[in-house]
Amino acid sequence: MEQLRSNISSDNKTALVAGGAGFIGSHLCRRLLADGMRVICMDNLQTGSMQNISALAADRRFRFVHHDIVHPMPQLGTLTQIYNLACPASPRHYQATPLQTTMTCVQGTVNLLNLAHENHCTLLQASTSEVYGDASVCPQQEQYWGNVNPTGIRACYDEGKRCAETLCMDHHRTYGTSVKIIRIFNTYGPHMAADDGRVVSNFIVQALRGEPLTIHGTEGNTHIRSFQYIDDLVEAICRMMQTAPEVTGPVNIGNPEQHTIGELADIVLRLTGSASPKTWHPIPADDPHRRQPDITLATRLLNGWQPKISLEEGLKKTIEYFKNKYSL
Ligand code: NAD
Ligand code: UDP
Repeated sequence: MEQLRSNISSDNKTALVAGGAGFIGSHLCRRLLADGMRVICMDNLQTGSMQNISALAADRRFRFVHHDIVHPMPQLGTLTQIYNLACPASPRHYQATPLQTTMTCVQGTVNLLNLAHENHCTLLQASTSEVYGDASVCPQQEQYWGNVNPTGIRACYDEGKRCAETLCMDHHRTYGTSVKIIRIFNTYGPHMAADDGRVVSNFIVQALRGEPLTIHGTEGNTHIRSFQYIDDLVEAICRMMQTAPEVTGPVNIGNPEQHTIGELADIVLRLTGSASPKTWHPIPADDPHRRQPDITLATRLLNGWQPKISLEEGLKKTIEYFKNKYSL
């Protein structure tokens, strides 16, 4: 508890959420409003959508700014917190515009760091388990430096995010800018886009539509991931922002429970009651074999934080969301 600063009197505080119209960003905007903050949601709508934030628009403390973080920042008034979530997260999306992805990670992060410095406020950087690449150790601890192919098709994202971490720490060391880096592991939930391309949304939408599930690998040999429900992540983000100034991270945030992608397909089929067939496809280049967070540090720094939502519970909520949204 001593790591946490008081969160009272947030009435006059303003948070900038870059990437706020995306999957994670829209949940964070809602949570910050509920916590009493004013929220500026900045997004270029590359992968996010106005629908994700439509329920927030009626709140007078919420403001949307259509802006690309790669470009110079507009006047925003005084900021108390900055969250950098702006970047496509699905391999399908970040690989479709790889040069833009790297620029978003690098130039976009520099612009937000400068803004944090000018405002004397903290920037929380959404980094990723992808900085570990195709990890040779499991579970991954923060001290592990990773195994990334710097010229492969995932590099625009992996190396972009690694460079963003470097920029955060150098801004901190050079100018004293307050930074907090979290490495997010595979997270899912409502507000993911149906055409997002990530495995949870793909399998759910395919199962609900009665279409074949596209499993990468072969029967009995698929890759391993650990899936975190969105509410657990948002709680961790808020706790991380409240940590003492000397806590910079990086800190892993994820659910350590592992599943093969083949198992995930079976669970989704069972929970949806779908008769969709399973189909097997080649594993994409550089797809990490196994990813599992060691969350010892997060639990210690974030006042005992641990994921609370089981995979089945989270999948049921996400299935309901897709059913209602697309009348499936
Ligand atoms: P998302 O694609 O749903 O959201 C990203 C948002 O950023 C979108 O609204 C998009 O329009 C916006 N954006 C992209 N480039 C931008 C730019 N240049 N300027 C302004 N806005 C821009 O993805 P998400 O899953 O919500 O991921 C959010 C953040 O969390 C990303 O930075 C991602 O790298 C990180 N992350 C997510 C996961 C996950 O499992 N979801 C895992 C690791 C890291
Ligand atoms: N995957 C799959 N079918 C799909 C989409 C993804 O089997 O339709 C696999 C993918 O190859 C990877 C895992 O599921 O092994 C997780 O992929 P995702 O794109 O969700 O996230 P990643 O962990 O690769 O960033």
